Amino acid sequence: MGSLSASQKRGINPEDIDALRSLLSTTGGTLLTPHDEAYPASIKRWSRAAEKPAGAVLTPSTAEQVCIALKYASEQNIDVAVKGGGHSTAGVSSTNGGLLIDLNAKMRGVEVDTSSKILRVQGGCTWGDVDQEANKHGLATVGGTVADTGVGGLLLGGGYGWLSGQHGLSIDCLVEATVALATGGIVKASAQENPDLLWALQGAGQNFGVVTEFVLKAFDQADAFAGLLIFPPTPDLIDKVVTATNDLYTADREGKTKVAGRGAGGIAIARPPPAGGQVMLLVSIIYFGSEHEAKQIFKPLYDLGPVLDTTAVVPYPAVNTILAPPIGLRASMKGAAFTVPVRPQFVSDVLAEYVKFTDGNDDTSNSVILFEMYDPAQVVARETGSFANRGWHLNGLVLPMWTKQENDKSCRQWARDVNEMFKKELESHGKATGKGVDGGVGVRGDKGAVLLYGNYDQYDERSRDIFGQNYSRLQSLKSKYDPTSVFDKLFAIAPQA
Ligand SMILES: Cc1cc2nc3c(=O)[nH]c(=O)nc-3n(C[C@H](O)[C@H](O)[C@H](O)COP(=O)(O)OP(=O)(O)OC[C@H]3O[C@@H](n4cnc5c(N)ncnc54)[C@H](O)[C@@H]3O)c2cc1C
Repeated sequence: MGSLSASQKRGINPEDIDALRSLLSTTGGTLLTPHDEAYPASIKRWSRAAEKPAGAVLTPSTAEQVCIALKYASEQNIDVAVKGGGHSTAGVSSTNGGLLIDLNAKMRGVEVDTSSKILRVQGGCTWGDVDQEANKHGLATVGGTVADTGVGGLLLGGGYGWLSGQHGLSIDCLVEATVALATGGIVKASAQENPDLLWALQGAGQNFGVVTEFVLKAFDQADAFAGLLIFPPTPDLIDKVVTATNDLYTADREGKTKVAGRGAGGIAIARPPPAGGQVMLLVSIIYFGSEHEAKQIFKPLYDLGPVLDTTAVVPYPAVNTILAPPIGLRASMKGAAFTVPVRPQFVSDVLAEYVKFTDGNDDTSNSVILFEMYDPAQVVARETGSFANRGWHLNGLVLPMWTKQENDKSCRQWARDVNEMFKKELESHGKATGKGVDGGVGVRGDKGAVLLYGNYDQYDERSRDIFGQNYSRLQSLKSKYDPTSVFDKLFAIAPQA
């Protein structure tokens, strides 16, 4: 059977549900329909705007159950969606009337092997599940900066986190995956077994199968010094905060401090609740070392007199809760590549745009714009996997958040507009420095980066631009592992003709 486009797939009907229940009967697999009490929890997404009513939901507890459902859906042309942590804002883990495989319901186990420093993580875990379990043994791995995010989607698309400065991306920590394929098999992907599949999973991983278990490298991890310094955005403070952050980042990158990737941070523009909804600059201080060292290193920022300082020594899992946006609003993510030094005037311009947008509509006051100042490129020189976005640039994020469906269109458009500001800034930086050649999206940076982060840029962008020069190899692997294109929701790869 050839591959089907999304529009040729169909929903699941009562006969399919009976047939699937019978196929699953000896395995203990549970299939939910909209009348079941547990169904609404499976449909929930981090962003309300990403929710769709599945025709039926499998809440598997084994890879075998996943495999049975996938094979049936593939043979019957039924639309399939897979939910890890449910944090994609583009609706790619949801299906309108098709079969949803909700890994998050029952597959959240984490096993820690302390002697080999390896974590065995089930496919539906959140990073909070991993942080908590690993921390009991003084370990951690590179996960997301917000604990409620799913391991599945975040890792398979690359994965940045506060530990990236020391250990690279989440995909750099992946040593093995167990994958349920739509062709009906369960395979391992590792350096020894199906290394081509491991390569594909490390960046383009939502395209090949359902990962029911991730095996991840872990590292010794002590308590950290972390929190926020909050500043009112006066022109003088914007200038000083941005300059101090640039200097700290550059000194670290050039090896002039003892931080060596152990300090990470960023600048957010938001209206945080402790500031009574006023627009503020939030500087995150994350330091993997002592409080004494942190206070010395980040002195230039402390000296600017933040109006609020939440920094403290915290256990590692708490580091991934300091910047957690509310769950269950409507939201949309748009990536925005930038580079250092960040121009203070650019931050002022972006802030003015933020104020205009949020002042103009009360429903948007939870929105955030983020300049993430941590960089895995400096510690991991190798080009692991199919991820095509390592380079000299850093990630920015435009995150409109709202509640009313009538605002969907204007909020998404605002994210595009702010993204355009970042693109122009990067282009003029490229012209001025010769970095990034012509600059701009789709043009590769000096380490071959596509300047798009697929986990943030889940709408508007094209698969070829996300995977760059890796696209054609991914096409041949698509033909091998998912020839009928069951997994086609996020940056679908066309099987090789
Ligand atoms: C609050 C918040 C914080 C974030 N922070 C970060 C961050 O610090 N670093 C970062 O890099 N990104 C971050 N992101 C972006 C994040 O990487 C993406 O939203 C990602 O898609 C979330 O994965 P998920 O499993 O929760 O999502 P889901 O919506 O469940 O899934 C997203 C995609 O992955 C697929 N998928 C999920 N699990 C599996 C699996 N086990 N096997 C096969 N396919 C699977 C789904 O089918 C879907 O296509 C953040 C997002 C949010 C909303």
